[in-house]
Amino acid sequence: MKITVCGTRGFPGIQGGIETHCEELYPRITAIEEDLDITVIRRTGYVSDPSVRNYGRVRFKDIWVPRISGIESAVHTLICAFYARLTGADILHIHGIGPAIVVPVAKLLGLRVVVTHHGPDYAREKWGPFAKLVLRTGEYFAARLADEIIVISSHIAGILESKYRRTQHVRLIYNGVNRPAGGLSPDHPYLGRLGLEPGKYILAVGRFVPEKNFGHLIDAWLQLGEQADYRLVIAGDSDFETAYSRNLKIKARENNVTLTGMIKGKDLAELYANAALFVLPSSHEGLPITLLEAMSYRRKIVVSNIPANLAVNLAADSYFQWDSRDDLTMKISAQLRKKNTDQDYDLSRYDWDTIAQETVRVYEHLLHPVAPPTDMCIILTYRCPMRCKMCNIWAHPTMREKEITADEIRRLPKVKFINLTGGEPFVRDDLEEVVSACFTRSPRVVISTSGWFDDKLIALAERFPQIGIRISIEGLEEKNDELRGRPGGFAKAIRTLGKLREMGVKDIGFGCTVSNNNSADMLKLYELSHSLGMEFATAAFHNSYYFHKYDNEITNKDEVCRNFAKLVDLQLKESHPKSWFRAFFNMGLIHYIEGRRRLLPCEAGLVNFFVEPYGDVYPCNGLEEKYWKETMGNIRTTDFQTIWESRQADKVRRQVYNCPKNCWMVGTASPVMKKYIRIPLAWAIRNKIRSLMGKPAVLHKPTYIKP
Ligand code: SF4
Repeated sequence: MKITVCGTRGFPGIQGGIETHCEELYPRITAIEEDLDITVIRRTGYVSDPSVRNYGRVRFKDIWVPRISGIESAVHTLICAFYARLTGADILHIHGIGPAIVVPVAKLLGLRVVVTHHGPDYAREKWGPFAKLVLRTGEYFAARLADEIIVISSHIAGILESKYRRTQHVRLIYNGVNRPAGGLSPDHPYLGRLGLEPGKYILAVGRFVPEKNFGHLIDAWLQLGEQADYRLVIAGDSDFETAYSRNLKIKARENNVTLTGMIKGKDLAELYANAALFVLPSSHEGLPITLLEAMSYRRKIVVSNIPANLAVNLAADSYFQWDSRDDLTMKISAQLRKKNTDQDYDLSRYDWDTIAQETVRVYEHLLHPVAPPTDMCIILTYRCPMRCKMCNIWAHPTMREKEITADEIRRLPKVKFINLTGGEPFVRDDLEEVVSACFTRSPRVVISTSGWFDDKLIALAERFPQIGIRISIEGLEEKNDELRGRPGGFAKAIRTLGKLREMGVKDIGFGCTVSNNNSADMLKLYELSHSLGMEFATAAFHNSYYFHKYDNEITNKDEVCRNFAKLVDLQLKESHPKSWFRAFFNMGLIHYIEGRRRLLPCEAGLVNFFVEPYGDVYPCNGLEEKYWKETMGNIRTTDFQTIWESRQADKVRRQVYNCPKNCWMVGTASPVMKKYIRIPLAWAIRNKIRSLMGKPAVLHKPTYIKP
């Protein structure tokens, strides 16, 4: 995979947030993925040693561009796009929204484009109207045309959603920070050269541009009064000498502020490690690496309360009102008065190795995209009033307050079909809201239910007449009530189905799970459904973590398979092609019961998925710990798209591929029947003809396809 990187001035040792980001990121990426060929295009004007042609396994290409503030990066990126095309790059990765103005050209050149949005730079005071227009246009093109956008903070993701409604292929990958390397001299040689004492100075780090507000910081520091014995140190410089940077330096010297110039490495580490307080007074940031660095050195911190800084989640007394010098003075003073020096911060989100892995995933998915799922099954609850013999869900109820919510469902992807199941979905008091959320995700929603809560069921169907209802009935009255453990269930279910029919609800039917004792009743139920003009779905009982059953085994296989074969022939006699496909499905059940190979490959987790009540995403509901059971991720901690395209999801799919269970359940069989429609179609046509000729279906010569 060949990646061309642009939008950075280059590295190593070149000042700037994007430059530091790239310097940390790309060597790690090449260390993770040896197949990745990364070329970073640098701007010659910033490169101190052009003879350096690579940085570890990262290659450099230096291209000259005139140093004209405002357009330099756009012109350079334009040249980079042509270079990427000519050198056969698979992906052009553009850093920053200014350079992203070139995205339309890159797309026209046939390149796949990733843009990292480091922050809304048009809010920076240093840019004039023309440069701001370029930046806004770059953001627009990135939002509209980039194949993938990486954002370094949730605040930037919010900008893309609110301004451009772009939520797809937007990846939140934070800026990273290195842990302090240690090994600093206890003699503080750099502090000595600057005439500083450890713990007796306030530190600010950054470029000398207006939005850093270093002038305000000097004013606030001068107002400190009795704490004025803390020196102020500003580490950084400007790329171009401007009136602002000149005046800032004059003001600093007049007030005895220590200016270090642009420093890196051990000198900067020594400054961070010994500062009494780190201050970042900016009015604009993306996700400031200097703030993360100060956190990594466990310094006390005061930062402006702009969205990018708030997203870091510091304690409230670390934030000051960004445009108030008085508040800045007060917060600095309060922090300096605190006795403790070392602070504890959670930096787990900002780990460069993780960031590098996530960036590689973005590249991989761009080149090898995973198709979105078509079917989803949402297990709303494990609470259930029934006491079924073949299922122990009812003995392991969920905590109602922790069950998946309608809001969480609204964040799931759009699919063609949703099945709502349980437990018993109608125990949920918010089921109407849940169904309403489901209809925003799919045009077809079917609820699997015991039918026990008949009044609630009728009320729901009145509100959503397009809803599908499948009531589980395991046999005629005596058998059903015995197997489901609640007398009166059969009568209630039949009454409810009749009422639904009267109401004009079309998508209704029975579902029958066949076990050892009810396959003869299954045929009677089929006749009943046929006479009522309702759908008739079948299943064979399975073992799984979901059912909490591990001893479901059909022992009278001959009898059960004989009855399924009769059902297949009856369904083939029907005139509606849907029944012929049901016959194919039932042939699959015969194969399952006989321990034969699945008729179609299991692609659980590829075309469909299950979400269980606490938010875990599974490929199916047939898993058993004794074989394997692994979640793809949890929608409460990770957005669905990230889960679906994650390495963990790939790992789960590999396990599905090798899964020994060979089960045949509607949730995982139906999606592949649709996907490989030619197989059931050919079988249905052949056997329909046999049926018309009065011959039984051929059940044991299916066409298998290679998964
Ligand atoms: S065969 Fe497929 S549906 Fe059955 S447990 Fe394995 S992965 Fe799940």
